[in-house]
Amino acid sequence: MSLEATAINLAIGGRAILIDASVRVDTGRVIGLLGPNGAGKSTLLRSLAGLEPSVAGKRTLDGVTAPPRANREWACRVAYLPQTGDLSWPVTVREVVTLGRLPHHAGPWGSQSAQDRAIVDLAMKHADVTLLANRPADALSGGERARVMLARALATEADYLLADEPIAGLDPGHQLQVMELLRARAGAGMGLLVVLHDLTLACRYCDMVVLLQAGRVVAQGRPLEVLNPDNLANVFGVRVLAANTPDGPIRVPVARLPEDVR
Ligand code: ADP
Ligand code: MG
Repeated sequence: MSLEATAINLAIGGRAILIDASVRVDTGRVIGLLGPNGAGKSTLLRSLAGLEPSVAGKRTLDGVTAPPRANREWACRVAYLPQTGDLSWPVTVREVVTLGRLPHHAGPWGSQSAQDRAIVDLAMKHADVTLLANRPADALSGGERARVMLARALATEADYLLADEPIAGLDPGHQLQVMELLRARAGAGMGLLVVLHDLTLACRYCDMVVLLQAGRVVAQGRPLEVLNPDNLANVFGVRVLAANTPDGPIRVPVARLPEDVR
């Protein structure tokens, strides 16, 4: 079972944003999508999610050609967590998380079933926002907001989750907590594609990583193989401290490299 995009090409205003980019998300796996700012990570995620209308290429969901645009049925199976979640409405956190159930309900959005409520409770528990349930969603810290958006995506109970920088802005404890939560979802059978910038967390929590540079996939495979010093120098222009610790591998950027040695 997999969600797959093959040979994705996308140009905006005559400029190539994605060039023959392919990515595959298997169920039960966490795939990390890494690359510099502007490399096209969010655009690739949106393309895979069926949210980029002018994309060329092939997308399949469990071997079946995907609809060109995300529809209700698709949204039940593929959840998308955008990079910046705006939560400036005067509603409670619980109401925001309940929106994750929306694709499952045809017709007008009426009262939720006991099952919907139980799923929303579980999603809030998984994202550690249960204590925020009755708080107004427009009065949260950045980290709290990020976890609420994640809870909303989890409430869909989709088979695949495409998460764009879900740990950006979180404190270290919550970064680890969210990565553990994403791993647990994979353990429960979900397939996850996660954009992130933390090299150490990518090594620890991802089964595979895809490295994107200027719209092209330049490397993919096991994290420790892909996130090697040469690739990190070429793609990010940095030298990393690479070490193994009792808690697992670490990759810490320590210096910017001059242009001529990248
Ligand atoms: P990343 O998520 O890796 O930082 P993005 O996918 O957001 O990168 O953007 C990739 C490139 O596409 C950037 O150069 C960005 O400026 C450009 N881009 C993204 N969306 C648009 C748009 N709607 N119009 C014009 N350019 C865009
Ligand atoms: Mg982005």
